[in-house]
Amino acid sequence: MKLGILSDVHANEEALCAVLEDARRRGLDELVCLGDCVGYGAAPVECLELLAESCSVVIAGNHDHAACGLISDENFNQAARASLAFTRERLSSNHQSLLRQLPLKVEHDSGLLLVHASPYLSEQFPYIMDAEDAEVVFRSLEFKAAVHGHSHVAVSFRWQDDHAVASLNPRVEVGMPGSYLINVGSVGQPRDRDQRASYAVYDTDTEILHRHRVEYDCELASRRIREAGLPDFLARRLLVGV
Ligand code: ZN
Repeated sequence: MKLGILSDVHANEEALCAVLEDARRRGLDELVCLGDCVGYGAAPVECLELLAESCSVVIAGNHDHAACGLISDENFNQAARASLAFTRERLSSNHQSLLRQLPLKVEHDSGLLLVHASPYLSEQFPYIMDAEDAEVVFRSLEFKAAVHGHSHVAVSFRWQDDHAVASLNPRVEVGMPGSYLINVGSVGQPRDRDQRASYAVYDTDTEILHRHRVEYDCELASRRIREAGLPDFLARRLLVGV
């Protein structure tokens, strides 16, 4: 079975459609989303509806929780707060209740643990930026392989012999010894200086996960952000992937 894993779409309809098309072309059997469907981008409703109909599981991200009022936006920066106000105005009460019902963590049939930020203290949405952060998670919780997003940086961590090692290799052999924490990167707002959309495909037969980058019309997505009156920084960052 081939599972497509998307995360951090952030209301970027152009990036989401390009990834869904890539997934169709590869003949994937199932899609899941690791949260942050909304926030930052110009198309929250379109993305939320597309994800709800294409994914078997949608996990809750911090932007999803803030958009439906489950958490406050006091820790969000100014651009994120402006985009949240924009998002809240557009979501119907049905969209809001859909967001409110999203789970924080799911043990998927594929054997992967699905979460937005971190398998440990998921409800606090901590960032896993380096091997030290990853070590805290591996020491606190037993799991074979977890996939996550949140930092918008496609990287993986392997835990073996009491040691966490980071890798940028897009191919991760989950069946090998050790535990794995794999960030699938962001569909709608990559921050690793590659503006292409990022997502992953996990093959349950070979137990190999592969991250893919997909070209999309980031100029159009950027223009829509500007035309929506959202902060200019949110439009500019898509063109360079920061
Ligand atoms: Zn995010």
